[in-house]
Amino acid sequence: MGAELAAHPPYVTTAFSFMTPLTVSAANRNIWNVFVNGKWYRQRYRNARVCNLDEPATFEFIQKAQKYGISADGFDEVPFACPLHTDLDFVYTLNLDKKVVTVSTWEALPGGALTISVLQLDLKDVREPKDLDLENFRRNGAQPLSKYTEKTAHLQMAVGADTDLRIEIEPPTSMNELQFGIFVDFVFQWKFFFDDRLAWAPPSPLFDTLAIAILRLAAWDFEVSPKVGRESLALISSPMAYPSWNAPSDQIYWFHGFLIVQCADLITPSSRLAGVKLAQDQVQNQCAKGRRVHAILISLESVAFAEIDEKSTRCSSAVPLVTNTSTTTCSPGFRILTHVLTSPCWKEDLALSEQSFLSTLPPELLSMVLDTLEPLDNVSLAQASSVLARWYYSSIPQMDKMSILRFYTSFPCCGISSDVKDDCIWCTSCFTWQHVSCIGGELPEFSSSGSTISIPSCNRCGSEEDEKGLVPGALGVTDRRRRGMGCRVRAHNRTYYMKLDTRTFAQHDYAIYFNGQLSGLVYKLESAGWE
Ligand SMILES: [Zn+2]
Ligand SMILES: [Zn+2]
Repeated sequence: MGAELAAHPPYVTTAFSFMTPLTVSAANRNIWNVFVNGKWYRQRYRNARVCNLDEPATFEFIQKAQKYGISADGFDEVPFACPLHTDLDFVYTLNLDKKVVTVSTWEALPGGALTISVLQLDLKDVREPKDLDLENFRRNGAQPLSKYTEKTAHLQMAVGADTDLRIEIEPPTSMNELQFGIFVDFVFQWKFFFDDRLAWAPPSPLFDTLAIAILRLAAWDFEVSPKVGRESLALISSPMAYPSWNAPSDQIYWFHGFLIVQCADLITPSSRLAGVKLAQDQVQNQCAKGRRVHAILISLESVAFAEIDEKSTRCSSAVPLVTNTSTTTCSPGFRILTHVLTSPCWKEDLALSEQSFLSTLPPELLSMVLDTLEPLDNVSLAQASSVLARWYYSSIPQMDKMSILRFYTSFPCCGISSDVKDDCIWCTSCFTWQHVSCIGGELPEFSSSGSTISIPSCNRCGSEEDEKGLVPGALGVTDRRRRGMGCRVRAHNRTYYMKLDTRTFAQHDYAIYFNGQLSGLVYKLESAGWE
């Protein structure tokens, strides 16, 4: 526990029933978060029985917590607030620094769909136990989430707006197909955190943690191991699980040669402009020396790209990154981000001398040298040279015994990959590909003049309106069966589905780590018969 908590005298833990070590009853699935002195504490879930909000003991707890702090006995320090989980009915958050108390709960919408409702009262308005009644919260409480639900409509209008930076992508690789599935699994695994808009609203450590993970998945910048401790696995699907890898805490930092700018919002042109301005200020000196900097603006909800040099700045439109359907379908934003980070489609030019030296090395020799290195050393080398980057991203590092059999995420038309550019077209809105033969053999009207043929929207675009927004609570209640079986792969002469392992202790084949910390992604290969 933090020193500031320990400094408070433990004020009779037995006085409050939710601090006594009883089991949570099925009818009472609530949990408390407390924020005090800049730190989060969560009620010790497994060993606590939780009071209902309007019980006198709860009122008494809040009063005493304001006076003396909270007891070290019933709470654990955690990196972020515990989000509302489908295993929980209520999450109560007592923010002693801001002097508010918040209730988060699931609420049924008129059509029966569930959404998250968050109601907040100032502590000065909590004068007696009945002020904590849920009805009072509904009548007099603020609704801090409403600004996020209203904004979704703007996002739908803003996406696809014309701007002057366009990125021409290359046909997706086997690695990209896997990455698209891994992203969906990642959002699924941490869906309750993504649903908690108030917790990750930047600047916040949760935003930093989720953003760096998305970037690392898009850059294949992680370690793969078959080993997972039983304890880690058991925690993944419980409300006790927290994303716990390290993340840069700066708003602006470099990642794989790109300047990352974390933004609260990218929906309107003015918000993108604010992000670009931050990037410009940061790279003024480099640009003055003739460098053209490539910046990635990320808001979790969307991503945008900007090119900055001494004379001009060009910015792309915002592309949806984490959306309502991201637990089942890869988003356009993650596709384009992956192309940018794993292919030369939008990279700064590296020095010609470096390229010419490495390109003289025989590929076998290069391969032998790189095979002896640790996974993260290989990623670092790939950032240093375009030759090494091409080598790194042309395979599936750390899963090299595996090949991808179906490319349904990259080529939704038929699932068959093609690297012949003339055979296929890509959509500049959703970044999926389709074969010309799959759409009747005739090219639709196209708009782009790069080395590939692109169309401004495809038959897939627009059919998934949900893809364009991120309504709080949408991810937590999405039916996972829409995800399908997982990626169809071949390994050890057999055909498998690579499936996210969420609940078993059975053997698993791959676990993804960020610098030694489990990402929450554990996979097993499930037999799909012979092929
Ligand atoms: Zn096809
Ligand atoms: Zn499309």
